[in-house]
Amino acid sequence: MKDSTKNHAELALEFNKDVDRVDWHDETLWFIRQKRDNTAHQIPEWEALREAASQIKNNVLSNLHNYLLQFETNAMANGIVVHWAADAIEHNQIVHRLICEANVNRMVKSKSMLTEECGLNEYLAEQGIEVIDSDLGERIVQLAEEPPSHIVLPCIHKKKEEIGEIFHKHLGIEAGISDPQFLTETARQHLRGIFLTRKVALTGVNFAIAETGEFVVCTNEGNADMGAHLADLHIASMGIEKIIPERAHLGVFLRLLTRSATGQPITTYSSHFKKPRAGKQIHIILVDNGRTVQLGRKDFRNSLKCIRCAACMNTCPVYRRSGGHSYHTAIAGPIGSILAPNLDMKKYADLPFASTLCGSCSNVCPVKIDIHEQLYKWRQVIVKNGYTPAAKTAGMQMMSRTLSSPTLYKIAGKTGRWVLKHAPFAVNNKLNPWYKQREMPSSPQQSFGEWYKQNIKTN
Ligand code: SF4
Repeated sequence: MKDSTKNHAELALEFNKDVDRVDWHDETLWFIRQKRDNTAHQIPEWEALREAASQIKNNVLSNLHNYLLQFETNAMANGIVVHWAADAIEHNQIVHRLICEANVNRMVKSKSMLTEECGLNEYLAEQGIEVIDSDLGERIVQLAEEPPSHIVLPCIHKKKEEIGEIFHKHLGIEAGISDPQFLTETARQHLRGIFLTRKVALTGVNFAIAETGEFVVCTNEGNADMGAHLADLHIASMGIEKIIPERAHLGVFLRLLTRSATGQPITTYSSHFKKPRAGKQIHIILVDNGRTVQLGRKDFRNSLKCIRCAACMNTCPVYRRSGGHSYHTAIAGPIGSILAPNLDMKKYADLPFASTLCGSCSNVCPVKIDIHEQLYKWRQVIVKNGYTPAAKTAGMQMMSRTLSSPTLYKIAGKTGRWVLKHAPFAVNNKLNPWYKQREMPSSPQQSFGEWYKQNIKTN
């Protein structure tokens, strides 16, 4: 449902039509945010951990080329085949070639937001390759023919009754079942058969360690492990920013990741892949796809520190009440609104504006990305590049002239007060998007400047 013809506001409006869903989505994500707070506050050194993670990632971004080459050398020495992909198309072509070389036409995949970003499933479907997503949430949205709406909880927008309907339609359970235990067991049995029959498995990568050439995949369901261990060929897709220098640094990131994501102390499975077992193969694809461009953008390079915990989404008042699909990009929410304009500034020009700039995202980010400041900076870049709607650009230019001229400001204030008092219909109408959701203020008798002058004289 990546709808490039609509913008965030229009898509959010659609999500907002179901008021119950919006309330429940909002409350569920806020509940997770509170769980995150509780778990984080149990660690006295939480802020020191955040600072350490931020500094490690700063070091990585400043020496990315060195760490990547070190990783490549060590991974190859371990028997892992390393591929480099400049963009999404090259990544997808490499995966396709590897599947063809394995002489199969189907693959099992665990959750990987990078493959969502690259549109891998759609690409492989066009080549006649069947891909089954093995993460429970991913499988549900795959059956529903929708993209994930959240990077950690892909089907958070779906109610359990809807999941029951999807399983009734695709997995043959009785209609009307919505018991989560039953639905999970149904999915488990369905996926078990798939794991046992797939020769190729693809996983994402949470961390790749330069000093050892190994990589770590974190899941709560163990589906990545099932896929990778049962298949003959394990393909791992990794964004180049996922590198960390040393294994010791994992202690910092693993403590931060799941506490920030779901409020758990640690991910259920943090699996290390270092070398293929006898007779098996591991291939890792290091994907750029715009990351080096972002690295070159001084104001936005820090966004590459992201460890995809989703804490910024769970806390964001806009995300919670507009839903992940309203961002029309693979990675939704505040961090997605920074990453997406780097890939296509025109297409995603609306996203940096989908924020209150309250700063809650920056407060919870485990790697201390200045998210709300980057969103504000993107707005300026987008306006300068002329990607805002013409009416908005004209309005902002007029506002800029008015606010920088005391005379114009006074005239505008007087006019506004007169209109609100004598002709309120000129602003209180359906053409004014602000009025649709809000009561317009009543007109004050005088401006603050007038009031101040009067009272200074009187007193
Ligand atoms: S930007 Fe920070 S809070 Fe948001 S997903 Fe990335 S690491 Fe988590």
